[in-house]
Formats: sequence, C-alpha cells, structure tokens
Amino acid sequence: MRTLTESRRLQARAEAFIPGGVNSPVRAFRSVGGDAPFLVRGSGSRLWDADGNEYLDYVGSWGPLILGHAFPPVVEAITRAAQNGTSFGASTPSEADLAELVQSAFPAAEKIRFVSSGTEATMTAIRLARAFTNRKYIIKFEGCYHGHADALLVKAGSGVATLGIPGSAGVPEEVVQFTLALPYNDIAAVEQAFANFPGQIAAIILEPVVGNMGLVPPGHGYLQALRDLTTRNGALLIIDEVMTGFRLAFGGAQELYGIRPDLTTLGKIIGGGLPVGAYGGRADIMNLVAPLGPMYQAGTLSGNPLAMAAGIAAVTHLKEHPEIYKHLEANSTALVQGIAIEAHHAGITMTANRVGSMFTWFFCPGPVTDWDSAAKADTAAFGRFHRAMLDRGIYLPPSQFEAAFLSAAHTESDIGHTIAAAKEAFAAAAG
Ligand SMILES: *Cc1c(COP(=O)(O)O)cnc(C)c1O
Repeated sequence: MRTLTESRRLQARAEAFIPGGVNSPVRAFRSVGGDAPFLVRGSGSRLWDADGNEYLDYVGSWGPLILGHAFPPVVEAITRAAQNGTSFGASTPSEADLAELVQSAFPAAEKIRFVSSGTEATMTAIRLARAFTNRKYIIKFEGCYHGHADALLVKAGSGVATLGIPGSAGVPEEVVQFTLALPYNDIAAVEQAFANFPGQIAAIILEPVVGNMGLVPPGHGYLQALRDLTTRNGALLIIDEVMTGFRLAFGGAQELYGIRPDLTTLGKIIGGGLPVGAYGGRADIMNLVAPLGPMYQAGTLSGNPLAMAAGIAAVTHLKEHPEIYKHLEANSTALVQGIAIEAHHAGITMTANRVGSMFTWFFCPGPVTDWDSAAKADTAAFGRFHRAMLDRGIYLPPSQFEAAFLSAAHTESDIGHTIAAAKEAFAAAAG
C-alpha cells in the first residue's frame, strides 16, 4: 500500500480554511472513497504527491494538459511573459495573436472574446444568444455541464452529477424557468420543445461529445439534426467546446463532425494550463458585444498576458504537430480496449465509451447514450476500481461521471503499465 500520510495532513489543514478542503468539488474523493493525494509536481504524463508517490496521470487537470505537465515551450512562454509584467488592464499584442490562432482552428468563430474560465464563456454565450434573438428560453441537455452559472445548473453533469444533486441550492426557480433540460441524443424531445415554445427558444447549448457525465458520444446524425432544427426555428446553436476544443481535433468536435455552430465556447486547452475561456461566433452576433453593441461582458484579468502566452505556446504546438491527434487516437484505442479486455477476462461488466483521447469505463452493461443510462453504472464498483488503480500509481478522475484524458506525453509503455495495473485491480476486486 502507498502511504498518503502527508496528503492526509494537508487535507485536514485545508479543511480548516476551505470548504471540503477543495477549491472545486470535483477534486474531492467522496464518491470513490480513500484519500486524495495532494500534488506537488507534474512532468509529462507523471505526477508526484506530497508523500513522494508517483502516478501516471489520466486527469490532465480535467482536460487542459493535452501536451502533458510542465511542457517546456509553455513553461518558457509563461516565464518570458511574466518578466514583462503580469497584467495591464489594457490591450496587449498577444490577445489578437491567440484570437487569430483560435480562429484558424475554428473558422465559425469569426470574432472571439477571451474570458478567464469556461463558466464565463458559456454564461456569456447564453446572454448573447438571448440578446441576438430577443428570446428567453434555452435548451440544455441532462448530464451536460456548462460551468456553474445559475441558468445552466439544471440537471447538470460533472460534480453536480457525482454528488447526486439535481441542481444547486441558491438558484431560485424563477432564474431557471427559461432553461429546458432535455435528454441527450433524443431529437424528438428537441422537436417537441420547439413545438411547445414556438418563437421563444433562443439557443441550444450542448457538449458535442459529452465528457461531463462520463464520455457519451453523439448518436449518428444527432449534431446535424440539432443544426437543422435550430436553423429552421431561428434559434442559435451553441457548441460548448470547452473540453473538446483542440482535444478531439485541432478544430474540435465541430471539425470532427463537420458542424458549423453560431457560437462556440472554449476553455481548458486554449489556456495551456492557465485560466482562459473564450466565446466566439458569427460576426453579426459577436458585434452585439460591448463596446460595439449593447450586450455587456467584461473582465479585469481577461486576455491576461501570461495566460495568452501559455495558450499561444500550446495551440501553436498543436497546429505545427497535427500528427499528435493520430498518436492520441492510436494510444487511446489501445488503452481503452486493453482495459475493457482485462475487465471481460475478469468477468466484470463494463461499457467502454471513447472519442479520441476522451474516455470512460462505465461499470454497467450499457449502451451508455445519455444521463439515464450513465446513471445505471455501479458507482461502488467504479470506486473500488479507482482505489485499486490509485494504489498502483494510476491517477484516474475520482468519479464515474467524468471523462479520463490521454496526453501526447503518454507513451506505449505507460499504456502497457496501466493495462497491467487494471488487470491486477480487477483480480483484487474479484478476490
Ligand atoms: C469544464 C467545462 C466548463 C466550465 O469551465 P470552467 O473553466 O471550469 O469554468 C464548461 N463547459 C464544459 C463542456 C466543460 O467541460
């Protein structure tokens, strides 16, 4: 057994000052049990905790670190930028540099505004869609997570799903009365909503590939059907690519599936590990954003020079190395199938869902296509698997309802090591 003595001490200390000892609830290990390692260092595919234990990381800071920890070009870019001052509250050249790079990946984002988190990006995209259409209702899908703005905390995924709560306390029902939460992958439900609220739905927002109820891919033709329905009904399509952008392809899920949204939200990878979010889209919509138009949104640290430098370094590397996506695909296939095969040999029921380098091993027969089917997973079995893997130095997301991620820094030998650990973990669970 690995010891987590120092992590336990640090957790107790953090709990004295910080609710639950964490600054984001998904970091807590409540749903899987056991102690959460306190991390002190990362390099490539590896992490080290405060007790000196080493781990192979499949969380990647929940998605941003597609190039691995402490990727040298990113570290150098941040260092160089910091020496010139950390913030000005005025325009700096790097903002348009990153915007131009982002637009080269997401041509539908004709204009882009940077913010500091995915939450800000989606919250603003909703405000903008309402401003543009002069309508109130929005459609989101059960199990999709779009950050923690009031209007979007309805039947949300991620930590909300992990904790088994329907939404959040403190959100008055009047505030979410215009949020329609529908099942994912169900076109008939969307058609019905447009029929029930004619001329009143401003936008559909969705994760094009869901990572926040565990990994759930869109069914064949689903995204195109949403595109057609929104166009036909004068509503906007907001594709939330905070997790999938630069992850599933350089141009995200919209490149992979060939869908052009009206608005796109980004985060995670575009900050190279620093806090950045962005929303962008059709110029006629984006021109409503202040100071050009009447829709207000602002941020003291938006477009921060350190964050822009990190984002530029990460995105430039991805742009110059398109082969990374082929390697991620091949390595992720080997990993996900390898572990599914070990589960099968051990007599463990599992459904492995994967798109590119995002994946989830659901402990249920499946198929897992929406929140109701994801929720059938045996979370106690997942918890045992999680603890057994952690004890063997494999750091997985501490929830059945969160996607795991592979980075470009993971090697074939890392993957072989992880499959071997899973084989032992399944044997231990059986015995
Ligand atoms: C992580 C995430 C968000 C929220 O981003 P934060 O930076 O955590 O606020 C929004 N949408 C999706 C799809 C996400 O995965």
